[in-house]
Amino acid sequence: MKTAERIAKLPPYLFVEVTRKINEKRAQGEDVVSLAIGDPDIPTPQHIIDAMNEALKDTSTHRYPESDGLPEFRQSVADWYSRRFDVKLNPDTEVLPTIGSKEAIGHLAFCYIDPGDIALVPDPGYPVYSIGTMLAGGETFWLPLSRENRFLPDLNAIPEDIARKAKLIWLNYPNNPTAATADLPFFEKIVDFAKKYDILVCHDGPYTEVAFDDYEPVSFLQANGAKDVGIEFHSLSKSFNMTGWRIGMAVGNADAIDALMRIKSNLDSGIFNAVQLAGIAALEGPQDAIKDHNVKYQQRRDKLIPVLRNMGLEVDPPKGSLYVWAKLPDNVKSGDFAAQLIDAVNVVVTPGRGYGEAGEGFIRCSLTVPDDQLDRAIDRLSQFRLQR
Ligand SMILES: *Cc1c(COP(=O)(O)O)cnc(C)c1O
Repeated sequence: MKTAERIAKLPPYLFVEVTRKINEKRAQGEDVVSLAIGDPDIPTPQHIIDAMNEALKDTSTHRYPESDGLPEFRQSVADWYSRRFDVKLNPDTEVLPTIGSKEAIGHLAFCYIDPGDIALVPDPGYPVYSIGTMLAGGETFWLPLSRENRFLPDLNAIPEDIARKAKLIWLNYPNNPTAATADLPFFEKIVDFAKKYDILVCHDGPYTEVAFDDYEPVSFLQANGAKDVGIEFHSLSKSFNMTGWRIGMAVGNADAIDALMRIKSNLDSGIFNAVQLAGIAALEGPQDAIKDHNVKYQQRRDKLIPVLRNMGLEVDPPKGSLYVWAKLPDNVKSGDFAAQLIDAVNVVVTPGRGYGEAGEGFIRCSLTVPDDQLDRAIDRLSQFRLQR
């Protein structure tokens, strides 16, 4: 049976070659250290695990959840946004619990994209923005992010006819993979642009709680008028080291939240209630885990950057996100560089090209590597000599 066109259109898994090399090496018993995985190595805080254990004992949690989540979880999301960002949300109309943010980002396309419609998507960027667009039958117009422009999209470079046709613009700060951050004046320019062209702003913000040097990331919803034109996706994955638990939230514009709820209620049956109760413990309990992981990631960042610079790479120290984004010497391809690194010293980094054409010439190193492994990687990187 022939599969649908959309299956053929899915990009091949980007890191096939790298994964093949890692598996080959590991099969030979070699110690390969991967700086390629963006998944916190620090465990979920104990009080959240305890809340989950308690919730499991209540058998009412074992039944189907509601698609719009527990009212208590929605309320604790609204309270957290109010405490953390001073953003006021109506828990019944402006908050939707999600099964982690990835599914919600993918499903949002189905709410706004008809065949032929355009979404504005950053390049490099998280692949789901453009793949969701494609699955809904839409077209991606790429917004190149350059180091000169601090990895913010240049709105003036978007042709007038594209802006008029576009339905969505995707943004993500602190950014994966570039680690760039955005401030409120930038978000306010985005609000003006979205109002002018009647575009929904979709801000993906899973890294607002991963920040260094006393920098405090902002929420897009803090920008004046943001709720009129936009929604934000947040997730407990990176904020509370809960990637495996699958819990997040979409917040903001009530019409967009309602549309997303309607799509999701036809495709999934919500988040396990016990996980939502654990989510309440995360949002309402002690927030020390955030400070603790930031101290740790910052120490790792500060250990890694000097060795990358000694290798001839250029690095702007990140103020947030889980990544160090490093510029390779001119004319070095990111795929070649990553392949040489594995071959020569058994260290894996992510080629920037995997996140889009504008990611070429860069590599991404993740800070979610246990300290002993990071020390081994740093040792080996300092012995690496690039062959050109
Ligand atoms: C990790 C990440 C997410 C969140 O993933 P979850 O599905 O919530 O675990 C979303 N966007 C980006 C850019 C990410 O890096």
